[in-house]
Amino acid sequence: MADNFRRDQARFPSTKPKGSRIVLAETHKAIVNSETLFPTRVFHATQVKRILKSGHNSPKTGRCVEKGAWTGADIYTLTLEERHTCSPTCLTWSNCYGNNMQYAERIMNDPVFESRLWAELQALQDRHPDGFVTRLHILGDFYSVPYVVLWRDALLAFSALRIFGYTGRPRQSEIGLALAALNREFPERCRIRFSGTADGGEGSLVIKSEAESRHVICPAQTDKTACCATCAFCWTSSKTVEFLEH
Ligand code: SF4
Repeated sequence: MADNFRRDQARFPSTKPKGSRIVLAETHKAIVNSETLFPTRVFHATQVKRILKSGHNSPKTGRCVEKGAWTGADIYTLTLEERHTCSPTCLTWSNCYGNNMQYAERIMNDPVFESRLWAELQALQDRHPDGFVTRLHILGDFYSVPYVVLWRDALLAFSALRIFGYTGRPRQSEIGLALAALNREFPERCRIRFSGTADGGEGSLVIKSEAESRHVICPAQTDKTACCATCAFCWTSSKTVEFLEH
């Protein structure tokens, strides 16, 4: 991935993971308590300068979209606490890639977070009236139906807002149904893909090797593009995306 590194999109190149993902035992405290492996890296919304971070800090997303209908839109990322906000049915519950993200800043999901999120979205709407993108979620997931409704209200209130991301919530769960409805209501501005499904434009799979591929492997993982900002596949394509497990 570093082969495609561009400083205008990210401050630092992505580092190849050292070794394989950490797999936690069923009896590990983080598994038993449904929490991150790094509880000291969970911050209350009042402890951080911003909860929505510029994609310039994220080599995987990049700073500003260069392709498709969202071209010119700056990207912002949101990171919540893995497992605590996720579905226990998640296919990577014990080997979540958050287990290898010791330094990620996770934001605690409480009512203060939600009101702060709204204020930051309002500020971004004012700053980028022609469009901005939020990548949900680098870690963590949609934790309740009211939280999905918050994003629906935001899409109604902030015309510049665009959303893309992935969820481990089952499509037929209450939260999954609310997310599918959000995709349908805002087809040009919202694309949440369901992890572990081959549902075309709403599907996302993890595969072990390129030989296993039946759909489209994330081009950033095969050095065909630099990052999401230069790719746009996940929010424009009607095909399932595949991620190589590392
Ligand atoms: S396929 Fe493209 S948009 Fe999707 S995660 Fe990979 S780089 Fe990002």
